[in-house]
Amino acid sequence: MRELIIDLDAIVHNFKTMQSKTSALILPVIKADAYGHGMVEVARVLEDAGCGGFAVADNAEALKLRDAGITAALLSWLHDPADDFVEAVARDVDLGIANIEQLSRAQHAAEASGEIAHVHLKIDTGLGRNGSTVSEWLALVEATKSAVATGKVMVIGIFSHLSSTSESDDRAQIEKFKNALQVAKDAGLEFELAHLTASDGSLAYPDAHFDMIRVGIAMYGLDPFSTNRAAEFGLRPAMTAKTVVVQTKRVPAGQGVSYGYLHRTAGETTLALIPVGYAEGLPRNATGKAEVSINGKRYRLQSRVAMDQFVLDVGDDDVKVGDEVIIFGDPASGAPSVDDLAAACDTINYEIVTRIGGRFKRVYLGAAK
Ligand SMILES: *Cc1c(COP(=O)(O)O)cnc(C)c1O
Repeated sequence: MRELIIDLDAIVHNFKTMQSKTSALILPVIKADAYGHGMVEVARVLEDAGCGGFAVADNAEALKLRDAGITAALLSWLHDPADDFVEAVARDVDLGIANIEQLSRAQHAAEASGEIAHVHLKIDTGLGRNGSTVSEWLALVEATKSAVATGKVMVIGIFSHLSSTSESDDRAQIEKFKNALQVAKDAGLEFELAHLTASDGSLAYPDAHFDMIRVGIAMYGLDPFSTNRAAEFGLRPAMTAKTVVVQTKRVPAGQGVSYGYLHRTAGETTLALIPVGYAEGLPRNATGKAEVSINGKRYRLQSRVAMDQFVLDVGDDDVKVGDEVIIFGDPASGAPSVDDLAAACDTINYEIVTRIGGRFKRVYLGAAK
């Protein structure tokens, strides 16, 4: 009774849309279970569409993809300090490397596994998160050169990540990134791929694509700016969250509805019970602001969203048990968008799709295998 419809054709369409905007390679980011869309299913369909590599956050995610038979290149960058990298290197997972300690772990893993460690050096150009500081960069580059000379380490790429604070902040990071690439080149470090932008930067700065762009949210057809402009960018939302009305009843005026009686009926009316709550990832603070659609009409969540359910006051509308309720979907079909729900909850579309789940079942449409 609760379904997340995942349109794999939309994901392939979004991959091709992003390809059409750039001559750079596309590295789809499929961390966090492909932003709630199903990492293995998304990887399979994109591999079939000709995609040569994927990014995830950590090695556990990468190894899950290997277990599922994904043979494309994989990059991970958020490392468990207790991970010796041996399995990742043995199973050909490229490692994002932020410092000399991680570099030597990669080198030792290569020695232990008999494979070559493939690395992407990460420079922090201003986000203040993962990566080498600018001041430690030359030392990391020099250490990497020595590691490469042992034949155990190969540098595939150099990358960084924008803060998306403002165009001028991003432009400053782009310049720092170019400087870091120059430092590496001047030191004689060879690498194939420079990559900087995620979805937002890829759409905003076509001049900063370098050799590859890391595309997460746009792969799923969502606007990286959470401004409901996905269609403008040629993207199609891939996820629809839907359920059904499980009970209806006529109640008189003055009926308090759900915890705290945030809503009381103004007159005789129909209440419809919907079996989705915050355990499904529908934020509790959607209460009072978000809207869902039933039979093409929008209804506001006037009463408190509970763990398992919420109640709609549908007036005298002909809403019946079993009627479909769209929590969010493609706004082109008239559904409330993920961006609408995110705005109602004072968050971004990323948080909605990565946290939706609970008792929802995923149903795949399109090129599913
Ligand atoms: C998550 C992530 C991305 C993808 O970001 P989107 O905004 O979803 O495209 C790219 N690069 C890094 C380093 C990330 O952590």
